[in-house]
Amino acid sequence: TKKLLEVHDLKIAFRGQDTTVTAVTGVSFHVNEGETLGIVGESGCGKSVTSLSVMRLLPETTARIDGRIEFDGQDLLKLPEADIQDIRGNRISMIFQEPMTSLNPVYTIGKQIDEAILLHRKMSGKEARALTLEMLKKVGIPRAEDIAKEYPYQLSGGMRQRVMIAMALACHPRLLIADEPTTALDVTIQAQILDLMRHLRRDTGASIILITHDLGVVAEMCERVLVMYAGQIVEEADVVSLFTQPKHPYTRGLMQSIPQLNKKVSRLIPIPGQVPPLSNMPPGCRFAPRCPQAMDSCLTENPQLLPVAAGHTCRCWLYGKGGEAGDARHIVGS
Ligand code: SF4
Ligand code: MG
Repeated sequence: TKKLLEVHDLKIAFRGQDTTVTAVTGVSFHVNEGETLGIVGESGCGKSVTSLSVMRLLPETTARIDGRIEFDGQDLLKLPEADIQDIRGNRISMIFQEPMTSLNPVYTIGKQIDEAILLHRKMSGKEARALTLEMLKKVGIPRAEDIAKEYPYQLSGGMRQRVMIAMALACHPRLLIADEPTTALDVTIQAQILDLMRHLRRDTGASIILITHDLGVVAEMCERVLVMYAGQIVEEADVVSLFTQPKHPYTRGLMQSIPQLNKKVSRLIPIPGQVPPLSNMPPGCRFAPRCPQAMDSCLTENPQLLPVAAGHTCRCWLYGKGGEAGDARHIVGS
């Protein structure tokens, strides 16, 4: 398998008036070609900031990004803005819960999708319009022909969201970053959108980064999962290992929010306590203030992300030096 995206030691800090806060610390991960990687965690854990940095969408005046983000062999952090614009929406598309890459108010919906398609795919104007209408129907927009003639302000937020998704998928990106793509949509539309994402992957070999609170969606869509907490990765595993053998107390807390595997209720029930503010991170393990298993050592030193089994890493003193992690490293290396 070829790696499409490799993020090395990503660090994101925001300059405030008189302080700088670090939102993401030492995050490394990769996405293989044709793979769906899930990123889960509560809001404020750095998931969205991480994905925005991949698209270089963080404000350059206040955000400082260190590390490397390699996409298809190019370091995105080093590319000039013009090249990034070329990649954005073309080879990497992003869909947000709140469409940030807002639609252009002066063009009709149909024209905008047509133009996006024509920019990225070789086809005639007529073929593009046919595809536009097909995509609008596929994201559950009724009367696609009429909607195509309307302007963004004439649509509801939910409809605009679906238009954005139709546009992102129609352009056949190599990498689709979907940040809570279906959270605001009703269940039927949500299922349709997830289905479309699966088709995109199957038909074009695209990779997907799926950022979500919904563990049900993760189980259904992803091969591998990163769990983020307070700006760090705390666990990474293939989806089966994560669901059957979650290691980190935070991940286990998230899992407890699924009452029964066969029930449709999969929203997170909040773990008691809150994600620490960026400006005031605990000195030791960042989860310690909320962790039911916290020990003395957890309060002073932040554990490393270490292997606990093949392809499975965890940041927790329960698997610290000489323990399970030490043995697992052996297995991984052999
Ligand atoms: Fe809990 Fe300690 Fe593990 Fe942190 S390191 S998750 S406080 S047991
Ligand atoms: Mg978010």
